[in-house]
Amino acid sequence: MSSNYDNIINATSSSSGTTAVDGISNDIGRMDISNDDGDVSRIDISDGEGGKIHNKKKCTSCEQKVENIKTNNISHANVDIDMVSEDVGSDIDAKETCANCGKDGASNVCNKCKLVKYCNAVCKKKHKKKHKKECEEYVRHAAKKHEEEVRRAAELHDIELFKQSPQQEEECPICFQRIPLLSTGKKYKSCCGKVICSGCVHAQFIRDVPLCPFCRTLEPTSEDEVVKRMMKRVEKDDVQANSSLGSFYAHGNWGLSQDMNKALEFWHRAAELGHTQAYFSIGCAYYNGIGVKKDKKKANHYFELAAMRGDAAARHSLGVHEWNAGNDDRALKHFLISVEGGYNGALKKIQQLYSNGDTTKDVYTQALRAYQKYLAEIRSAQRDEAAAFDEGFKYID
Ligand SMILES: [Zn+2]
Ligand SMILES: [Zn+2]
Ligand SMILES: [Zn+2]
Ligand SMILES: [Zn+2]
Repeated sequence: MSSNYDNIINATSSSSGTTAVDGISNDIGRMDISNDDGDVSRIDISDGEGGKIHNKKKCTSCEQKVENIKTNNISHANVDIDMVSEDVGSDIDAKETCANCGKDGASNVCNKCKLVKYCNAVCKKKHKKKHKKECEEYVRHAAKKHEEEVRRAAELHDIELFKQSPQQEEECPICFQRIPLLSTGKKYKSCCGKVICSGCVHAQFIRDVPLCPFCRTLEPTSEDEVVKRMMKRVEKDDVQANSSLGSFYAHGNWGLSQDMNKALEFWHRAAELGHTQAYFSIGCAYYNGIGVKKDKKKANHYFELAAMRGDAAARHSLGVHEWNAGNDDRALKHFLISVEGGYNGALKKIQQLYSNGDTTKDVYTQALRAYQKYLAEIRSAQRDEAAAFDEGFKYID
């Protein structure tokens, strides 16, 4: 039975959990990527390693969001000046009429307010004194509107961001119990595309037959076969397979040469298909500058996309980010949502906030209860047995 590829798969996924940020003071020094049949592992990366390869294929859904964010935050000035011209423009001839002499065909725009036009620099100069006051007023008005607009956009963004995330309560197709969050507590099978809990994988394993516990297909017997099967599922637009294959490339696993360009391509595809962890992996790539230029803003954007879709680890990363920035309230909000998703690291952070006197006992109790609720849903004798048998089947932090 030692030839069972499950063994190798579990052995290579050395680490548990999906922590992106390990401590409050640390940066995200690791990258979370599933490196095999759905197991999530980490690779330690020293900073400044990446930035060489740039991802060419862009995820349309998240790029669109990036565009939206850009529009909201940066380029409101133009929009607002347009709005101003609608508001106050009624007394200005919106057509090409010179504000000084009234002739048509004016094309020389006031550089400051961009609302009035002149025939030429001479008319502009002549009108300068008269226009000065209203020009300043237009500019002030536009700036105020811009501020308001930015504030409103941020508000709307926060409402979306802190909305209760959809819980990822996937069930094991064999025991029908909730799948643990911890990577070692589950396993993806590329034969049937099912995610199976560690308990059920182990139960099959001790029967000494190298079959998939769900579809009874023989386990792959070579690295080549592992990759081939995964690619087959990728062709079927299987979300987890896309994410896993991306991770194969990120690690250079299963005989593939490491290729972050390809890794990002598959992660983007998986993200487009709705895989939250793929967003998280892309975020980690940006955070650490691996395969892409280091960009913490972009990293955070991808963490947000993952968190808003229910990724508890990404949610925890956002919390740490806020905590580092001194925004305890926002950090706490993230940690609470993360705990509800079963993320133990977030519970520890809340405990720390509580012992520092930065949050109340009620909040800490609420977090504890949320975590206990999660534990009650994932605990099983079969999974305990698997975990006792092998660290690689650990399913509770
Ligand atoms: Zn003129
Ligand atoms: Zn002006
Ligand atoms: Zn199960
Ligand atoms: Zn199967």
